[in-house]
Amino acid sequence: NRRILLAARPLGEPTVQDFCLDEAAVPVPAEGQVLLRTLYLSLDPYMRNLMDEAGTRYAPAVPLKQPMVGATVSRVVASRHPGFGVGEVVLASAGWQDYALSDGAGLTPLGGMTQPSLALGGLGMTAFTAYVGLLDIGQPRLGETVVVAAATGAVGSVVGQIARLQGARVVGIAGGAQKCRHAVGQLGFDTCLDHRAPALDERLAAACPDGIDVYFENVGGAVFDAVLPLLNDGARVPVCGVIAHYNDATPPPGPDRLPRMMSTLLQRRIRMQGFIILDHYADRFEAFHRDMARWLAEGRIVLREDRIDGLEHAPAAFVGLLQGRNFGKLVVRVADD
Ligand code: NDP
Repeated sequence: NRRILLAARPLGEPTVQDFCLDEAAVPVPAEGQVLLRTLYLSLDPYMRNLMDEAGTRYAPAVPLKQPMVGATVSRVVASRHPGFGVGEVVLASAGWQDYALSDGAGLTPLGGMTQPSLALGGLGMTAFTAYVGLLDIGQPRLGETVVVAAATGAVGSVVGQIARLQGARVVGIAGGAQKCRHAVGQLGFDTCLDHRAPALDERLAAACPDGIDVYFENVGGAVFDAVLPLLNDGARVPVCGVIAHYNDATPPPGPDRLPRMMSTLLQRRIRMQGFIILDHYADRFEAFHRDMARWLAEGRIVLREDRIDGLEHAPAAFVGLLQGRNFGKLVVRVADD
């Protein structure tokens, strides 16, 4: 059983040396357990936060020398559990390893899904995050301007496409010309700006002549600085993630922008709301799944998966995710499905 363990807690940007590959015996299920074979592993930005000793409010830190955690699509390869048969494919949290034991809690059967890795992205957590954050918190209306960064990523790409389905004008922000072309040409965004090119603030102002009504916050940092002055009265800002800050080891340099932000929120009656998608499965997952399955079937939403082959490549792929090297929902194919 190959497992990828957290070897060291990174200070700043993680490197592949913060992980190590370990070989252990394949575990044997006890009564009431199943043995899961990982088919696909999801790599997601929140994992960076779980590498820090403090962890997060919604999930504890990964202990040192223990396998990295993560959502997986897994196959039941041995079962001593009455609810799961051998061969069944399930959504699980088996982590960065070939095999894991489970008592069945939290396993979701995926039935005969034709592309099971979609359960990690386009029909799973990341697209669900886009759906809840945009529709429930952002509430875009016809003709409004919606801005989203990490625009070709797992969450951002779906945010922009759902916003278009609501009749909003969508401005994406992404790293590099190729991603920007994809956002406009394949995903149907109205325009997309490269945040690595100079003068983002001026280009964003030009791209949003009527201001910004919904800013779906995925990144923070310089993108937020460019967005803030353009927010309209009554703008909504779902705070989904701040990936530009996950590697921060010290507070950012420069003047304190908090007073300016607070007075902008106040005077323009802006509603900024953080959310953690775990809270919404019970109420909203069914509606999401129904809508998304229909949009995909009708070709109204396009998904792009960035698929890496081989568990051993997960550390490098994860380091790349935080640097913008992924192009679409990042998944690792660990074994044949
Ligand atoms: P993505 O597939 O979008 O991959 C991350 C992308 O972030 C990179 O490809 C890169 O895109 C962009 N990025 C990285 N660093 C920076 C930076 N300094 N400035 C601007 N962009 C940067 O990941 P996800 O779609 O999975 O996640 C997007 C966000 O949503 C993250 O913040 C994540 O933590 C959050 N999230 C929150 C959830 C919740 O429950 N609240 C659930 C799921 C995700 P590019 O090359 O275009 O810059």
